[in-house]
Amino acid sequence: MNTPETPAQQPELDPAIRERLKLDPQGLVAAIIQQHDTGEVLMLGWMDPEALRRTLTTGRVTFWSRSRRAYWRKGDTSGHCQYVRSVALDCDGDALLVRVEQIGAACHTGTRTCFDADPLPAVVGDPQQTPADPAAPAADRQPPKEDRP
Ligand SMILES: [Zn+2]
Repeated sequence: MNTPETPAQQPELDPAIRERLKLDPQGLVAAIIQQHDTGEVLMLGWMDPEALRRTLTTGRVTFWSRSRRAYWRKGDTSGHCQYVRSVALDCDGDALLVRVEQIGAACHTGTRTCFDADPLPAVVGDPQQTPADPAAPAADRQPPKEDRP
């Protein structure tokens, strides 16, 4: 099913999109994958500009696999394909939200999402009972740039 890698013959990602991407030192952006109708957060993967181009133009989600150092079209080996419904770039260009129709399990372990298996203990906050901290809301609304590497 894999098509030969022929970068020279492939069109490039739209430069207007490319210049809005803030790539990490490995040349990648994080891609959050969400089921379009239920809102389930399915998984997080990584894309380089070419993986994003493929995702935007083929209707199927393609990642860059950091471990295999290769493009990876979700579902080609597992059958658990992700069909693109929409793609959005976040406010500062370093993350993508890809809404999809997920076939079967999103996680390679066989669970529906990557976040089903390992809940951590967390104190549940209650806005009705927590005294307002005047410093907190402003800090929450405007995190310093350093918080978003
Ligand atoms: Zn997973």
